[in-house]
Formats: sequence, structure tokens, C-alpha cells
Amino acid sequence: VLGDQGVGKTTLLQQFFTSEFMGNADLVFDKEYEKTVSVEIDGQETTVTFVDLPSNNVKILQIYKPQNSQQYSEIDAFIVCYSITDRQSFDFALSLLREFRHRTDTAVILVANKSDLVRSRKVTFEEGRSVCRKYNCKFIEVSAAFNHCVDDLLVGLVHQIRLNPSRQRA
Ligand code: GDP
Repeated sequence: VLGDQGVGKTTLLQQFFTSEFMGNADLVFDKEYEKTVSVEIDGQETTVTFVDLPSNNVKILQIYKPQNSQQYSEIDAFIVCYSITDRQSFDFALSLLREFRHRTDTAVILVANKSDLVRSRKVTFEEGRSVCRKYNCKFIEVSAAFNHCVDDLLVGLVHQIRLNPSRQRA
């Protein structure tokens, strides 16, 4: 899960972990920034490790730069978040999408968060959707704080991971 500081990544993950789709397994707290959970969707259980990195942009790009191929190849999907109230966070999300554009086998979902803050909106729905057309990624607007569309995102994420061709080969 990537994105600028304050866009709502931690809030989003907290909503994931309290979702009705969470399986029976207890949450396993692997490392400070990693949590492994079991998600049950369509009667099928999937174990997902979420990585919520500190919002240090340089560090994010260093860790996930394409040359670091082994670490990169272990990632099935990127959730790239921005806040609809913060254009700078949208620009940062775009820089990440450009970084990932050649990683065709890694699913990318662009998440526009804080959809509840309609009066403070700085980035339109159409802007988010059109960059996703350009970069061939999924797009969803959510409100992590109000748990709006968060389950749709979780289900979409797991579907994307299951569709990953390299995962199917494994
Ligand atoms: P992070 O730095 O990306 O992990 O962001 P946080 O999850 O810590 O959220 C930053 C601030 O935004 C906190 O005060 C959250 O309560 C708030 N926040 C997160 N998601 C939403 C949302 O969907 N709507 C609103 N109004 N506030 C949110």
C-alpha cells in the first residue's frame, strides 16, 4: 500500500482488517509494517500480506525500484492511494504509476480516498479514471473513514491477485 503521507493508508488497512471478509484465522503481525491475514471471498480463502510502508517517498522508490527484482517479483499488487482533497498526493500517485507502468504482471489499483470530503475536493473522479485508462490500472473512489466502498476494494484486490498470470503458473 503506497501513497503520500496523510492520504489514509493506515485507516484503509484498519478497515480491511475489520471487514466481514476476514477469515477465521487470527491476524498475524509479522513485522512492524506487514500484516498477514486470511481473506475469504467466493468461498475461497486467500492469505494476503499487506505491506504499509512509512511515507518516506525516497525509501518507497528505493525499496520497490525495478532493479530490485527479487523483492519486486514477490509483490502481486500495488494499492496506490491519494486523497481527493490533496492534489500533491495525486501527483505523487501518478509518479508511482509511471514507475510501475512496465510491470504488466503486477496489478495496480489506484485508490482515491476521502470521497466523503466533497466540499474540499481538489481532484475530480474523471481525472482519476482517465489516468487509470492511460496506465491500465483499476480505479476506485473510497472513504476509508466512513468505510464506503472499502469492501469493494478488498474484493477487487483479491480478484486481481488471483488473476495474476505468474501466480497461476506457480
Ligand atoms: P496515512 O499517513 O496515509 O497512513 O494516513 P492515515 O490513515 O493516518 O490518515 C490521515 C488522516 O486522514 C487521519 O486523520 C484520518 O482520520 C484521516 N482520514 C483517513 N481516511 C479518511 C477518509 O476517508 N475521510 C476523511 N474525512 N478522513 C480520513
